[in-house]
Amino acid sequence: MFIILDGLGDKPCKELGGKTPLEAAETPNLDRLAREGVCGSVRISDKPPESDEGHLALFGYSLKKHYPGRGPIEAAGVGLTLQRGDVAFRANMATVDNGLVIDRRAGRIDTTAPFAKRANGMELEGIKFMVKAGNAHRMALVMRGPGLSDKITNTDPHEEGKPVAACEALDGSDNAKLTARLLNEFLSKTHKIFDEMPENQERIVRKMKPANQILTRGAGYYKPIPSFKNKYKLKACCVTGGGLYLGLGRLMGMKPMEAIGATGDAKTDIQCKLTTAMKGLKQYDFAYVHIKGTDLFGHDGDPNGKRRFIEKVDRSMPVLQFFDGVVVVTADHSTSCAAKDHSADPVPIVISRGSERDSVSRFSESACALGRLGRMDVRDVMPTVLRLATTH
Ligand code: ZN
Ligand code: ZN
Repeated sequence: MFIILDGLGDKPCKELGGKTPLEAAETPNLDRLAREGVCGSVRISDKPPESDEGHLALFGYSLKKHYPGRGPIEAAGVGLTLQRGDVAFRANMATVDNGLVIDRRAGRIDTTAPFAKRANGMELEGIKFMVKAGNAHRMALVMRGPGLSDKITNTDPHEEGKPVAACEALDGSDNAKLTARLLNEFLSKTHKIFDEMPENQERIVRKMKPANQILTRGAGYYKPIPSFKNKYKLKACCVTGGGLYLGLGRLMGMKPMEAIGATGDAKTDIQCKLTTAMKGLKQYDFAYVHIKGTDLFGHDGDPNGKRRFIEKVDRSMPVLQFFDGVVVVTADHSTSCAAKDHSADPVPIVISRGSERDSVSRFSESACALGRLGRMDVRDVMPTVLRLATTH
């Protein structure tokens, strides 16, 4: 069971008397995992990683070779099935008035499903557009057909009061030019269609902002990455809140397990996630469990909230007494409460109940750095986990 506490690592916080949230937290159950295993400190990358990059690196994928860009991961997360050669985007519904984006989230619309459905399936010059709703104002867009490229710019202007940015080719290739031209055409055609939809007429009557424009970013060219099965000979499942993390699991060929009560935020039912993973591990060899809350408190700059959330994670862990496999706990990157952003600081790791022990008795950044695994390169994480698990 491979548990990723998103953005767990941190720097010392003055609000916590110079401790990190993990050091300040009372974590008897995580500490027990440390006593029952070996610990270390993983350098994820030289610069602050995005979550998707941190995950792929931890799972042993070369980012240079296998990172598909954010679009394909988000598209897989909402349940679009990708094919080699697709170009996928993160998208959101916005409000455009008089040619200007006046709200990037269309008045915080609660679902984009009717609009996604209306736009889905459009074809322009043999290129098919697939659109599917995500959470709230979010959606994913996939362009499918021959000769596409992801070397194109975002159309999301990232600022309100500006026009939709025209998509432009980033290199001189015909593929990039074609992709940019057809995407621009799709965005202006769907804008007109959305404006006339009864859902938007109704929003206007109710003094709500119409959802009349798709904005795109994070274009990525999809080519399949080796599945966990092929790479490690492991049948893998995943327990994630949704979106990006579900997409990552799917791209790695993991079977998503549904955990009722998993919300993808701080309210999430962690014990339910762990028991779902335990159930999954009756049929599967490997379970990836993702817990997001730690990162969210880091971005909010709330060290006490992060500490309390870590304590909540810890309180849900006694259920692991009924699990006799190897448990790994680590993070995809550090999220600094002081900087309210990801940092390149190394993250603690414990590989518990495998074939080795060390003298670490506390799960924290500083204690784990003194463990037998020492300073680890991220590429050594999966080989080490497999070695300690197979001799278990
Ligand atoms: Zn993350
Ligand atoms: Zn984050």
